[in-house]
Amino acid sequence: MRESAVGRELGWDVRAVAAGDGAPTPIRAPPRPGSPRGPALQPARRLSPDRLPARLLGPSPAGPNPETPDPMSLPARNTLAIVGAGPVGLEAAAAALERGFDVHVFERGEVGAHPLAWGHVWMFTPWWANVGPAAARLLGREGWTAPPADERPTGAGLVERFLAPLAAAPGLKGRVHEHSQVVHIARRATLKGERAGDPARAGQPFRLLVRDSGGRENFLHAFAVIDASGTYATPNWAGSGGIPARGELYLAPQMSYLCDDVRGLRRARHAGKRTLVIGDGASAATTVLELVQLAAEEPGTAVTWVTRGTGALGGEVADDPLPARAELFAVARALRDGGDPAVTWVGGAEVEGFEYNSATHRYRVALDLDGRARLEEADQVIVNAGFGPDDAIHRELQVHASWATRAPVAVAEALAAGTEPVDAERLANPEPGYFVVGAKSYGRSGAFLLETGYRQVASVVEALAARLSASAAG
Ligand SMILES: Cc1cc2nc3c(=O)[nH]c(=O)nc-3n(C[C@H](O)[C@H](O)[C@H](O)COP(=O)(O)OP(=O)(O)OC[C@H]3O[C@@H](n4cnc5c(N)ncnc54)[C@H](O)[C@@H]3O)c2cc1C
Repeated sequence: MRESAVGRELGWDVRAVAAGDGAPTPIRAPPRPGSPRGPALQPARRLSPDRLPARLLGPSPAGPNPETPDPMSLPARNTLAIVGAGPVGLEAAAAALERGFDVHVFERGEVGAHPLAWGHVWMFTPWWANVGPAAARLLGREGWTAPPADERPTGAGLVERFLAPLAAAPGLKGRVHEHSQVVHIARRATLKGERAGDPARAGQPFRLLVRDSGGRENFLHAFAVIDASGTYATPNWAGSGGIPARGELYLAPQMSYLCDDVRGLRRARHAGKRTLVIGDGASAATTVLELVQLAAEEPGTAVTWVTRGTGALGGEVADDPLPARAELFAVARALRDGGDPAVTWVGGAEVEGFEYNSATHRYRVALDLDGRARLEEADQVIVNAGFGPDDAIHRELQVHASWATRAPVAVAEALAAGTEPVDAERLANPEPGYFVVGAKSYGRSGAFLLETGYRQVASVVEALAARLSASAAG
């Protein structure tokens, strides 16, 4: 049986997901977990068993029991698994390479899957803030031409001009495994409740259940894990109190929960139609603004904009240092307050229920306005009510999340105190060697910016390197 290139390179068991045929995969929005709207897996790209080393395929029935910890089979101490090949996960990988880690990145979709899913949206931040320092050093060695520092990319531009070349750069190439979903993470042979808060848990490696695009599953091991899996694939529900409204679970697959490209890819769904947009953050503001632009091009296009509040929009920052974000909210507020006849604003509303009439192909949305019932009809519904972390992958680890935001608790405390949560101490969990970084570290807060994520991973990689040196010395 042949060993793959990655298999030869590694001292640990990541090879099951290392092989891909490199075939292009269509860009598409990530599925909502648990939703019939989309499969959890990308189209099958079959891994031939003869491309996998024998160790990968698991022991034969007569072989050793893989559940029994075998000190001889421990991965190297410098093994580091990163979940998510978004901008922060890749920056972490570039920084970890510099510190001599045997690093591998597991990506459920393709590199930059989330910015690709909002690919038409212009970022608020310019290139100088969007390129991480370790990534810039790695790409710089490859003769990469940095985009103009003060220009702003779209989500797709971020991937095409930066993330894709970064993942393909020598050094990282072969270490970024697309279409490899981390389904669960545990400590090998150690239950969540065992040795609670005890640093001795670090004696066992993490055990990752990873699923490839063909649905095949393997266990991979590493002594440290950085979870940079983002939040864009787990949007919040529209219903009052954050739980689904009546009918929402059933209708979610045919509504949208993402930043849809209403003037491009999804134009036909919205042109000449009434779209009901729910939410008051930057995503909702962007959607409403784009629908208004569509209305100028396509007569009959209209928007019903439903928000919970009636004052400032969610995500508005006083004296905003990012002019593009300040401008978006200024325009959105003007639209909300009657600035364009295409927009009908319904403020102070809680969403109670959705119905869909399959004869008229229209939705009826039940709202509660401070005790007063109101019904709105629309052809399409876009819910942009924010995003939150998917805690399922680390459910069996000792991760201490805030009951209010679902961010790691010390990060939530820092955010509540108005401090930027970037130091490894705050990002650390009771689970030694497990760090949540990037957009996911902010829990349900939408205020995360890449610059913060890059500072986070610099600090985390530094802490992991110090831990490695200490264990080598001890
Ligand atoms: C519309 C929009 C515009 C934004 N504009 C800006 C901006 O202008 N400037 C700025 O600084 N920030 C912006 N942000 C915020 C933030 O920087 C981005 O969300 C950014 O993509 C976060 O990077 P990340 O690496 O933390 O996570 P993500 O980019 O979300 O990457 C996470 C990756 O993990 C993968 N993944 C998820 N689960 C698994 C799993 N179980 N196994 C394997 N892989 C998994 C996903 O497929 C994804 O590729 C914006 C966000 C949105 C939604």
